[in-house]
Amino acid sequence: MIQEIVPGLDNAYRPGEMISDDCVCLAFAGRGSVMAVTRAAADGSEPAGPALPTYAQLKDHVTESRYAFRIGTRRFFLVETDDAAPFEYVNLHKFIRGDGDRAEKHEGFAAMTGHHLYLWYRDVRYCGRCSAELVHSETERAKTCPVCGETFYPRIAPAVIVAVHDGDRLLLTTYRGREYKRFALIAGFAEIGETIEETVRREVMEETGVRIKNICYYKSQPWGMSGDLLMGFTAELDGDPTIRMEEKELASADWYRRDEIEFADDGVSLTGELIRRFKEGAF
Ligand SMILES: [Zn+2]
Repeated sequence: MIQEIVPGLDNAYRPGEMISDDCVCLAFAGRGSVMAVTRAAADGSEPAGPALPTYAQLKDHVTESRYAFRIGTRRFFLVETDDAAPFEYVNLHKFIRGDGDRAEKHEGFAAMTGHHLYLWYRDVRYCGRCSAELVHSETERAKTCPVCGETFYPRIAPAVIVAVHDGDRLLLTTYRGREYKRFALIAGFAEIGETIEETVRREVMEETGVRIKNICYYKSQPWGMSGDLLMGFTAELDGDPTIRMEEKELASADWYRRDEIEFADDGVSLTGELIRRFKEGAF
């Protein structure tokens, strides 16, 4: 999955970090797009995919910068640029997944996590209690209100993804009206007052109308595309397999046998890993 990189993310807040030529720039143009340059193939003969620009490449156009995090020795900064910046914004899904031309994994994860931070910096600017303009905390990644003292931290939304199986069959869906057309699993956000196991049961019932048992936690995944912390589960069908699909969100929902699932693990998502593990007979 996309966060499985070595070395991992060092997300400590370091307000004293200064940007320099070797730093990596995270520039976003609204939700879901990231500024990219073209990475040369190892032998230099052909372009091999998108990459994040360095400060050396972009500095003539950077109007603001803020230290974000570090991966190994590479430091990543959120930047804003003027309109003359010479690089294009690309779709973030395409940047991380590509069609044989995706970003290197650690840059994909950096772009996702940077995107999560970017949305928070962009959208949390005024105090929700008294409407005064917020200032950045000097000690932690948080914004504080100089008038009433309220503190605001980056928002992380707990969400679930569930691989529901019935013996040799897996419940797969496709989304309605989204760019992502491949097979998906049941997924959704936790709601107020729920345990995460209740979220799992409710989402499966709402989207497909089936009951489940033996809910089993698998792994979690930070998914900065929409600010989620995804928690992955497997679960078994309990009783009637008849599907009553939620038609507003889904285009299809059906049971598929192991041998009829045509799906290549994208190597970045919990969805891909869970479907691949089912095909391999892991549950
Ligand atoms: Zn306030």
